[in-house]
Amino acid sequence: MSSSPIRISLPGASGRMGRMITKAVADRGDVTITAATDRPGVDAIGVDIGRLNGFDETGVVIADQTEALFNPTPDVVVDFTSPQVSADHALLCAEKGVPIVVGTTGLAAEHIEMLKTAAEKTAVVWCANTSVGVTMLEQLVEDAVRALGEDWDIEIVEAHHKHKVDAPSGTALALGEAAARGRGVALDDVADRGRDGITGERQDGAIGFAVMRGGDVVGEHSVVFYGQAERVEITHRAMDRMVFARGAVRAAVWAAKAKPGLYSMKDVLS
Ligand code: NAD
Repeated sequence: MSSSPIRISLPGASGRMGRMITKAVADRGDVTITAATDRPGVDAIGVDIGRLNGFDETGVVIADQTEALFNPTPDVVVDFTSPQVSADHALLCAEKGVPIVVGTTGLAAEHIEMLKTAAEKTAVVWCANTSVGVTMLEQLVEDAVRALGEDWDIEIVEAHHKHKVDAPSGTALALGEAAARGRGVALDDVADRGRDGITGERQDGAIGFAVMRGGDVVGEHSVVFYGQAERVEITHRAMDRMVFARGAVRAAVWAAKAKPGLYSMKDVLS
C-alpha cells in the first residue's frame, strides 16, 4: 500500500532555488508542493507553480502572505529565501509544529539563535550546501587536516555567479568549520577573510578565504593545503543547481519525520 505524498510548503517559490525545488519535487512521486509564497510585489505572485516552471498547472498559486505557507498545514517547509525571512519562518514553524529545511546562507548570529530556538520545538535542518558531494567534502577536509598536521597552510577558494549576495559562501564557511574542527580550534579565532593592502605575513594556523564572483557559476569550492614543496587540493564543482534542489527535497523527506532538533545534511545522509 503506498502512503500519501509528503506535503511541502515552499517560500521563495519564484527564486532560482525555488524553481529548482519545484522541478525536483515534480521528478519524485513521494512528495508534493501544497503551498508556495514569495515576496509581495514580485511578478510571480498569483501564478501557478506549474505554469511558472513550464509544466502543467498544479492548482498551487504563489501567494504573498506568509500565513499561506500553513494553509493547508504542510508536513515540512523548504526555505531558500534570505536570512531574516528564513529565521522568521523557522520560528513560525516551531509555533505550528512543522519541520523546516533552511538552505539560506549568510545567516548572522542572531538568525542562527532563532533557528536554535525553533529547533527546541520542531526539526530544523540547516545546511549551507545540500549537495551530496559537498557533505562528503566536509568530512574529507576534516580528515585531511588531522592527517596532514599543523604545518600545512589551509586556504579555501570559492567562485559563484554574479548575483550571489553573501561572501564567503556558506559552503566555504562550512568547509572552514570542518578544517577548524580537524585542528580543534574555533574558526572565528583563525579565519582570515579579507586580505587587502599591506597585510603582513600569513599567520601560522590561519584558515584563509578567497572569493570570486562572475557569470553563471553555480558553485565551486577548493580547499588547498600548502606544505613545503607540495600541495594538496580538494575541489567540488556543482554544474547544475538541481544537485542542491534534489538534496533539499531529500532533506525535506527526512525532516518531515524527524524529532525536534537542529540538524545538518550529514544527519540527513547518515
Ligand atoms: P533568489 O534571490 O533567486 O531567491 C530567493 C527568493 O526568496 C526570491 O524569489 C525572493 O523574492 C524570495 N523571498 C524574499 N523574501 C521573501 C518572503 N518574505 N517570503 C517568501 N519569499 C521571499 O536566491 P537563490 O539563488 O534561490 O538563493 C536563495 C538562498 O539559498 C541564498 O541564501 C543562497 O545562498 C542559498 N543557496 C543555498 C544552497 C544550498 O545548497 N543550501 C544552494 C543554492 C543557494
